[in-house]
Amino acid sequence: MPADSHWGIRREYDVIVVGSGLAGLTAAYRLAQAGFSVLILEKHHLIGGLATYFRRPGGIIFDVSLHGFPRAMRKSLSRYWGEELAGPVTRLEDIRFDNPQFQLSTSFDVDDVRTLLVDRFHVSEAQLERFWQTICRRQFFDDWRLSTRQMLEEFFPGQPEVIRFLLEPICYANGSNEDDPAVTFAVVLANFLRGGVYSFLGGTDRFVNLLRDKLRQANVDIRTSSRVEKIIVHKRHVQGVQVNGRIIRAQAVLSNAHLLATVFELVEPDEFGEDFLQEARTVRPACSSTQVYLAFQPGYKLPRKELGDLLFRSKEKDFSPSGLSRWPPSSRTYTFYYHDFRPGHPRCYAVSSTNARYEDWANLSPADYQSAKSRLIEETICDLEELVPDVRKAIDWAEAATPRTFARYTGHPEGANFGTKYEGLAISRAIPRQIAGLFHAGSVGILMSGYLGTVNYGVLVASEVEAFLKRLPSPNLEDNSQSWNS
Ligand SMILES: Cc1cc2nc3c(=O)[nH]c(=O)nc-3n(C[C@H](O)[C@H](O)[C@H](O)COP(=O)(O)OP(=O)(O)OC[C@H]3O[C@@H](n4cnc5c(N)ncnc54)[C@H](O)[C@@H]3O)c2cc1C
Repeated sequence: MPADSHWGIRREYDVIVVGSGLAGLTAAYRLAQAGFSVLILEKHHLIGGLATYFRRPGGIIFDVSLHGFPRAMRKSLSRYWGEELAGPVTRLEDIRFDNPQFQLSTSFDVDDVRTLLVDRFHVSEAQLERFWQTICRRQFFDDWRLSTRQMLEEFFPGQPEVIRFLLEPICYANGSNEDDPAVTFAVVLANFLRGGVYSFLGGTDRFVNLLRDKLRQANVDIRTSSRVEKIIVHKRHVQGVQVNGRIIRAQAVLSNAHLLATVFELVEPDEFGEDFLQEARTVRPACSSTQVYLAFQPGYKLPRKELGDLLFRSKEKDFSPSGLSRWPPSSRTYTFYYHDFRPGHPRCYAVSSTNARYEDWANLSPADYQSAKSRLIEETICDLEELVPDVRKAIDWAEAATPRTFARYTGHPEGANFGTKYEGLAISRAIPRQIAGLFHAGSVGILMSGYLGTVNYGVLVASEVEAFLKRLPSPNLEDNSQSWNS
């Protein structure tokens, strides 16, 4: 019997989680640990959502989104998933910038960044101290009107290279731009500067397999290749879901699908209030990206000294966040996975990421789409050859993903990589007040996105689901130990 069939699935669970992204998985694990019966339904054949991997012939394994996260991820994994998950979190020491304004290498923590800003960019100690105190201040969270541009121009007037150094990695890291509220930039920057940039030793395959083992130990029922067609609601109370034509009942449903898909596709629109829907219509999907995945021949060693761990490389004379999404790209972020990243694995990998707009890819004919992907791959390899001249001959496999790829695999509108822009958070939080027993957890805004944000959001929403379930009168449960097929 294949692992992803619906054999043995129950008719009813305490909680159904729609989607197996990091927020969904973390919430499912917390709720199972609290003693609830939990079913995860994932439309893809692997769990992990965007935090996943794919294989190609010859033992090739590509990480889809494992580029970097702040040190706080280790604490969250340790606290909410256990030491087995926190142990492999490992520091990336060498973060490089290569653009017409400057070339430098940094560990991107507060001490090193401070030294660079003072010695290299001639920022005064006092100016820096004021900036650091501001971005770490709690009251800062109250001011959502100040934009990132306004804040950076106030602190670093006439210093575009300083703004580039601080802003470029954050815009790459979460697709934000200078018009987003300063708080969203500042919190992410401060998170990185507090400890530098980290990754997961062993890759996403190891990460996801460890998560799956933990979920199984906690008796979470995981069903892949199971697309939820509908969340069933009656008189503003959630009843369950419809999956592959079957109804499965639950007292609570937590959707980890994209916020806009949850509101506008999975639930019948007349189940929500009109004011809520009007507000939800203003939510914008976050931006998407293109990726070029390169696998090198077994035994070939990428030269770490020339490349560093993460490389922000751009040919743009001046920096602008919107320029990062330009097609064809002139700016790329490379992540290099060296021979010691997957101990015992013989290959090195490079992944080049570029922020991208869905509209540049959405309407291409099949032939134009293929040729745009080939162009993307070719220009990326040429760019890399400028750093490592003989690199082309060592490439065993090259492949590209586009906003269309992300949309197809996750169902996220416009292939959004980070859920929605910041206005999505209020809508996500308001869903349980619209429909009793329905919750949403997943990338919304910048603070609840990325590996760290979604794990933490999953924990937060799981505690709300738990509170909801504990307030419920004891349900008159039918015998739900039968399988569907019995
Ligand atoms: C290219 C790329 C690079 C990234 N790099 C980084 C990085 O370096 N650092 C970082 O911290 N973050 C990074 N991110 C972001 C990070 O991966 C995401 O923010 C995070 O993994 C999203 O988790 P999530 O819980 O929102 O769910 P998602 O990962 O969005 O998963 C949602 C899941 O729901 C499933 N689903 C949707 N609809 C249904 C349905 N109807 N029925 C069943 N299942 C459904 C989808 O198939 C998917 O598996 C990157 C993302 C991308 C795409």
